[in-house]
Amino acid sequence: MNGKEYVAKLMSDLKAKNPAEPEFHQAVQEVAESLTLVLARHPEYVHAKILERITEPERVVMFRVPWTDDAGRVQINRGFRIEMNSAIGPYKGGLRFHPSVNLGILKFLAFEQVFKNSLTTLPMGGGKGGSDFDPKGKSDAEVMRFCQSFMIELQRHIGPNTDVPAGDIGVGGREIGFLFGQYKRIANEFTGVLTGKGMNWGGSRIRPEATGYGAVYFAREMLATRGQSLEGKICLVSGSGNVAQYSVEKLLEFGAKTVTLSDSSGHIYDPDGIDREKLEWVMELKNVRRGRISEYAETFKSATFVPVAAAADHNALWAHKADCAFPSATQNEINGTDARNLLEHGIEVVAEGANMPTTIDGVNMFLEARILYGPGKAANAGGVAVSGLEMAQNSMRFGWTREEVDHRLQVIIRDIHQACVEVADRFGTPGNYVNGANIAGFLKVADAMLDQGVV
Ligand code: NDP
Repeated sequence: MNGKEYVAKLMSDLKAKNPAEPEFHQAVQEVAESLTLVLARHPEYVHAKILERITEPERVVMFRVPWTDDAGRVQINRGFRIEMNSAIGPYKGGLRFHPSVNLGILKFLAFEQVFKNSLTTLPMGGGKGGSDFDPKGKSDAEVMRFCQSFMIELQRHIGPNTDVPAGDIGVGGREIGFLFGQYKRIANEFTGVLTGKGMNWGGSRIRPEATGYGAVYFAREMLATRGQSLEGKICLVSGSGNVAQYSVEKLLEFGAKTVTLSDSSGHIYDPDGIDREKLEWVMELKNVRRGRISEYAETFKSATFVPVAAAADHNALWAHKADCAFPSATQNEINGTDARNLLEHGIEVVAEGANMPTTIDGVNMFLEARILYGPGKAANAGGVAVSGLEMAQNSMRFGWTREEVDHRLQVIIRDIHQACVEVADRFGTPGNYVNGANIAGFLKVADAMLDQGVV
């Protein structure tokens, strides 16, 4: 069997075994295609069935999360933890609270996490979890009761040397606080069992900023390969949560101009750019008042709000003219039509803050156009990298300064970028960061799996 046939068989078996999980299929397909370049040179991976094993979670936990809302009604959600791969360290990956959460989405995220964590150079395996609980519109007391109920079950499966969850969509500082408090109470132990903790109870400096800053640092590295910088670039950023906010902050520092932000209701377009004052306003809106991005256009008259068009085949945010795009909301937010719109308007850089925000046809269009395309695994690895640094600081019972953590983050992103470039070159696809990230991430995990035998 040649590489292509091997991947075709792998995919058809995977789809038969894991039906109705399209995001998981998509994530595996993308990695497996890159790996056709590796398997021809490394038959030992085929013999040891590394791909078949790496696509099968080591453990999946799925559980009932009952809680009571403010009106005294009983509510039931579903909780999950996917412990995907522990070949190079304890399972590590975020928790997502969003109504769209299901097994397939979390498996795709856990699968991506394995390669991303490997790229960071830190000893972390891959996992992911969450619930179909929607924190939107819930009171703080409801969120707390939900988090406490969720942790009553999750605590059986996690631990500082076993599995260390963090935040993701819908899970920020507030939720991590409630989860940590409940874990500590049940385990009677103050340990680094979660990352993204508050600064005065074991958190790391720069953790909230890390994913957004990291995506911008990755874009800076990519641009440097063409002798360019972010200074003066016009940027499209989607989302308006954690990753989006800190991407905009770092872009401002580097002299770039961000003209969009969004949430699930639509996007704002501000041709004057989102300056520091406007960004502070957005942070207050989203993190304190928990309001909608449409309010931005009511407050800042230079901006317009464009609601999501229900039947549209594209996302209007990506139809604005810009030099750089930082998708920072959710999976598959850039489809083929969006990719074409971006390319027609002269996009030079796409750095993915979100996980798998681009569909496979969109990815192929970026690769064909030879723009600087940084896939999420590499471009958004800054978040988990600083989570790894938070774990290290917790183990030492010591905290580094802001400057120290930021410096380490920049070194890690530079190293990830370098690894992607070198590996893409070595496997005959120079400039292809998708192959670079997939292959570099894979090799370390695959070799560890070979060393550890059939487990
Ligand atoms: P937040 O919950 O802080 O923000 C998410 C943002 O994306 C919100 O503006 C939200 O809008 C929007 N969004 C979420 N789902 C959808 C949807 N289905 N359609 C349209 N908009 C949507 O999450 P984060 O900023 O933490 O995460 C954003 C992305 O970055 C995710 O893909 C996540 O996996 C990825 N990521 C996050 C990391 C982290 O450290 N936080 C690390 C690496 C990757 P609304 O409020 O209307 O839902």
